[in-house]
Amino acid sequence: MASDVLRVLLVEDNPAEAELVRDALSRARGERFVVEHAGRLQAGLDRLVANGFDVVLLDFSLPDSVGLETYERLRERAPWVPVVILTNLDDEETAVRAVREGAQDYLLKRELASGLLVRSIRYAIERFRAEQALKNSENRYALAVQGANDGIWDWDLAGGTAYFSPRWRAMTGCDDAASTVEAWFERVHADDLRGLQDALDAHLAGDEPHFEHEHRLRDAAGGYRWVLARGLAVRDGGGTPARMAGSLTDITDRKRAEERLLHDAFHDALTELPNRSLFLDRLGLALEQSRRHKRISFAVLFLDLDRRKPRHDSLGHAAGDALLVEFAGRLRGCLRPGDTVARLGGDEFGVLLTEVDGPEDATRVAERIQELLRQPFAVGSTEVISTASIGIALGAAGYERPDDILRDADTAMYRAKAAGRACFQVFDQAMHSSVAALLRLEMDLRRAVERNSFVMHYQPIVSLLDGRIVGFEGLVRWVDPERGVVLPDRFISVAEETGLIVPIGWWVLAETCRQVRLWQGSFPVSPPLYASVNISGKLFGQPDVVERVWRIVEETGLPATSLRLEITESVLMDHGDVALRVLSELRALGVQFSVDDFGTGFSSLSYLQRFSYDTLKIDRSFIAGMADKADVGAIVQSIVGLGNVLGMNVVAEGVETPAQLARLRAMQCPSAQGYWFSRPVDREGAELLLHTGQAW
Ligand code: C2E
Ligand code: MG
Ligand code: MG
Repeated sequence: MASDVLRVLLVEDNPAEAELVRDALSRARGERFVVEHAGRLQAGLDRLVANGFDVVLLDFSLPDSVGLETYERLRERAPWVPVVILTNLDDEETAVRAVREGAQDYLLKRELASGLLVRSIRYAIERFRAEQALKNSENRYALAVQGANDGIWDWDLAGGTAYFSPRWRAMTGCDDAASTVEAWFERVHADDLRGLQDALDAHLAGDEPHFEHEHRLRDAAGGYRWVLARGLAVRDGGGTPARMAGSLTDITDRKRAEERLLHDAFHDALTELPNRSLFLDRLGLALEQSRRHKRISFAVLFLDLDRRKPRHDSLGHAAGDALLVEFAGRLRGCLRPGDTVARLGGDEFGVLLTEVDGPEDATRVAERIQELLRQPFAVGSTEVISTASIGIALGAAGYERPDDILRDADTAMYRAKAAGRACFQVFDQAMHSSVAALLRLEMDLRRAVERNSFVMHYQPIVSLLDGRIVGFEGLVRWVDPERGVVLPDRFISVAEETGLIVPIGWWVLAETCRQVRLWQGSFPVSPPLYASVNISGKLFGQPDVVERVWRIVEETGLPATSLRLEITESVLMDHGDVALRVLSELRALGVQFSVDDFGTGFSSLSYLQRFSYDTLKIDRSFIAGMADKADVGAIVQSIVGLGNVLGMNVVAEGVETPAQLARLRAMQCPSAQGYWFSRPVDREGAELLLHTGQAW
């Protein structure tokens, strides 16, 4: 015992019996008892509140209380103290009931004399403490369960019954009567039931050490909540599961957050449409399905809103976004539920049509979308009309990856755009091979640059005053082992796009300068022959363009004044102030400039003046058109006149007939170039012309 002094409250109205008790306790060995005595129940209760007693000895027939009620009142007032009942033979039965209700023991008063009393008190105190400890731990457990917000279930596998904690019932909305696992299962979402069964079976069969499963459960309101169920089976000696118990945790919030994250990862924030990843994912599914069913069953539409930049510049960012949102809404509205609309980026949208029987199904949707766009968009206070170019790819056999279908729809969209916007194109294999051909061209061109598989051809520029050669335009050719001689029209644009024009262009410049310098030596004329070289806008954008041109001039020994760089009008427009600076720095070194293909671009007089070129090259389309169209002749005449006024040289390009030549002479055009004089020729060809002193 914790302390050797035990405090006893004796509630007993009979003084003689009270004396007996005192006597018995005073004779005890081991413990020392301090006994306080109360003659009535009320007096006993009053003392109990004030003093810390270790045990109460309670008589059952007191002046103010008799029988079981006596115990109950005491219990209620002081549940923390163990009670031993003192009884006479006639109410032994009542005493037994008191013990059932929580009294520790009862003693017949006639046994008091023996050592029984002391032993009974000792046990009463000990048993009471043990009970109290157990109760505390049970309470703690109950509190923990409540705090963790988990529901508890306990399933008797053999009997088929189950216990569900109040929290479990609150979560599931099961009424209090439910006590079988069916009450649980019938609330599980139909899509999750199989998984739950499988997880349970796996654990019961011993395949899984723990049971753990997430599923949706219908709650009292009829909505679904996500729960995590966990549990363990208790097995008998033979390993057969007899019971299974576990917890149920509400994970709805976590699930919602996860779903939100997942949603955000696969949707466009502005329009809320699926994004490119999700679109490709759905496309992959459609592809797989059509592969299994072996027929065209889907189509992809690639949409691009036309004229993005001008619209953006005039409307501003926010209004541009509002238009996209509105457009997304309209798109969604005009498709069937099984179809997917996605924003692929910028102004690009993708539509996946499922269950398509043929191309007409897809083109009909494309028409509908364009119809949809004819309605103006209300953006802020104004109305805007937008058009879209649409490319269509049909999910025909032969596609391996979703990316390929999207790429083909994209290619078709570009065709649609090139064909004049606001229309659609269905992808066909010819487009594919042209794309593939372009790719191959690019690869081969790269290799050509590495191996320098280029040669220069030269076309004479002739003075119309005396018919003699005054200079040569260098024109590059690509000599490919398979393709043969490839003309610039076939590869310059690819070279520009890929940046390969930069190494090619520097080589062309150096090679032409070197060659013309040699000819200046062997064929001296006055003024010396000049070299005319086409310069791509890409070269103009290079930071060291002035230095490099200068270095080439120095290294080849060609006088800077014998070099004419041909640029088109658009180059200067695109490069603005930088071009102006480069131009004036090179002009300061003596280099001259020609506007190539004059008349086909902007033909802006203000640009002409601002950049002060030395030469205008009239595009060959004007020379070709001169004969049949009077106004074209007039244009050529006025360009020649313009050159005169501005003090510029003029070269007529593409002269093919003596009639054209005569006409130009009559207009007093100072110089010309064209097949009539000579096609572009290689070095030997050019030298032959120079050698014979050919004059036209
Ligand atoms: P361009 O600078 O206007 O060159 C004249 C083009 O007209 C040359 O075509 C030439 O062969 C062709 N031509 C000359 N006389 C006649 C004629 O009487 N009738 C017809 N129908 N055509 C004639 P080419 O060599 O195929 O070059 C085409 C274009 O490629 C050139 O047009 C030029 O813009 C570009 N280019 C050629 N070489 C280079 C180069 O080295 N660098 C750059 N950046 N571009 C080049
Ligand atoms: Mg040219
Ligand atoms: Mg030209």
